[in-house]
Amino acid sequence: MSVLTKEKMYEDINRWKKEKNAIILAHYYQDGDIQDIADYVGDSLALAQKASKTDAKIIVFCGVHFMAETAKLLSPEKKVLLPVMEAGCVMADMMDEAAIKKYREENPDTIILMYVNSTAACKQYADVCVTSSNALKIIDHYSKLGKKMLYGPDKNLGAYAMEKSNIQMDLWHGFCGIHNGMQPKDVILAKEKYPNAEFVCHPECNLNVLKMANYIGSTKQLIEYVTKSDKKEFIIGTEIGVIHEMQKRNPDKKFYILSDRLRCFEMKLTRLEDLYNCLKDETNEINISEEVSKKAVKCVNKMLELS
Ligand code: SF4
Repeated sequence: MSVLTKEKMYEDINRWKKEKNAIILAHYYQDGDIQDIADYVGDSLALAQKASKTDAKIIVFCGVHFMAETAKLLSPEKKVLLPVMEAGCVMADMMDEAAIKKYREENPDTIILMYVNSTAACKQYADVCVTSSNALKIIDHYSKLGKKMLYGPDKNLGAYAMEKSNIQMDLWHGFCGIHNGMQPKDVILAKEKYPNAEFVCHPECNLNVLKMANYIGSTKQLIEYVTKSDKKEFIIGTEIGVIHEMQKRNPDKKFYILSDRLRCFEMKLTRLEDLYNCLKDETNEINISEEVSKKAVKCVNKMLELS
């Protein structure tokens, strides 16, 4: 039996993309081999938006389940495939549909702000969706209505937004196990090891770590920040996959991961072979019921209108 080499897989994938009118999206946290064959690499919402503007018939989303769902919400007429159906998100799973439904029923006047890292089933109960790059702007907009607000599922991004804006919100109890696990002692050790490096991190880290950062931003904002900066060395406080794009854009700069624990198991479930088989057989299609889709897309569209 012949072994599929990376080159052979790239060749077949590129051919199928043309034959099937398919595009491949890869989140920044995917392995480098997958990022390199993708048509677009980015964060979850930007990818879903890009794909919706193409005339592709098939979208293969190399990422986790909620991301492929967001792509499907914005491109209901396209076939959206997820190479590994089990690739989920620990944070998204911390918000249970039944619990948020109950909250909605008991608090009909509360503004529910939903981080994009959530399932479509949960998004249907939200007023608006937010990302790590537009959260502050959207929270500020809704605070002017003078109503009670709930932010979820990420308590860390919520706490960071409250600290920055002085706006009070109720916070859901979810978090990203990867980012939340970082501790100030990890930053102290890394700074001792790399004294000339700036520390940049994602707002999904806890507040104690965020307070030690030279810069805080979404994955895209972090990539842009290190690219524009005159500094030559950076300690990276987000998922390790982001370094692939940072290094590509800045071959002369050095990037050190804050901790080897910054590796998302769910994101790394997708191997090149999975992408290959998924596109070849057109398996693992994402389907969202019309009822859920109709309600969930509203909160995504509301965010796009405000950001
Ligand atoms: S890094 Fe965290 S938030 Fe992102 S997909 Fe993995 S578990 Fe979810």
